[in-house]
Amino acid sequence: MIFDGHSDIFIDVTIKRLLGETQVFKNHHLTRLRKGGIEGGCFVIWIDPPYDKEPAKRLAQILKATKEEMAECKEAVLVHNIAEIEAAQKAEKFFILLGIEGLSGIGEDVDQIHMLYDFGARHAMLTWNEQNPLATGVQGDPTRGVTELGKKAIRILQKKRMIVDVSHLNERSFWDVMDMTEGPVLASHSNAKALAPAARNLSDEQLFAIRDTKGLVGLNSFNLFVSQDLKNQNVDNLVKHASYIADKIGVEHLGFGFDFFEFLSTDSMKSYSDQETSFTIGLEDCSKVPELLIKMRAAGFTDKDLEMISGGNWLNLISRVIG
Ligand SMILES: [Zn+2]
Repeated sequence: MIFDGHSDIFIDVTIKRLLGETQVFKNHHLTRLRKGGIEGGCFVIWIDPPYDKEPAKRLAQILKATKEEMAECKEAVLVHNIAEIEAAQKAEKFFILLGIEGLSGIGEDVDQIHMLYDFGARHAMLTWNEQNPLATGVQGDPTRGVTELGKKAIRILQKKRMIVDVSHLNERSFWDVMDMTEGPVLASHSNAKALAPAARNLSDEQLFAIRDTKGLVGLNSFNLFVSQDLKNQNVDNLVKHASYIADKIGVEHLGFGFDFFEFLSTDSMKSYSDQETSFTIGLEDCSKVPELLIKMRAAGFTDKDLEMISGGNWLNLISRVIG
């Protein structure tokens, strides 16, 4: 079983539904996911630029599109716990854990987390790259961390047993979250800073801190996080991130958070990168995941390791945090 711990497919669903399409998941994504052997994923609500200027409006649009899409989709199901994942697997349906990639859409009203939970979300990040009323993302003021309101938000997330994800936080916010969380912490789509010094990647100290919460790090295929150097943005170097993280903190703390982006428009891409492509050579989209696994096996990962990284560790995290 392969679980992709970070996918923006619902943004593509929103963009296409706003243009009048229906069955976007089935018509544009399912075949590729099946080809890659991916059976489930954490699909996030991401307030995509340029719509982040009015985040509440965009959040409402994405929620509406997601709800309408899931209502007509027979091939996939939103899941809210391990029992529902097992039921979906039995029914051979693609299962989706709904996440929130940045809470900018709720502004200062942290009580809206309850609304997002009721909608189905079981995962959240305080920010995307921006700084917002709750915390500071990697593109915000480096001296600013999690605000008092953000701490309140984390307490609500933990009380509701939602997964707290630190992937987009700046370092200050990361450590603020670490200071106050009790359960496992997730960095759903970040690689090792020792191999690629992107702000979105994790230092060794951060990797150790996540391990100490019994948390999880999701391997990211987005090329900028594999290498800062265009010619090294290939699958072999992504495998090196996997080996590095597994060696540092243990294979039981590693999963996938592929962050495939090739299906989104270049406008989204241009909003935060000079590069024209998002994909790593050799892992251009989710259908190529089996080739990544072959390379990981060649690099020394055992079948048992790959089973854990591909999905076992994710299911374990979901069962411990959400239930
Ligand atoms: Zn992201």
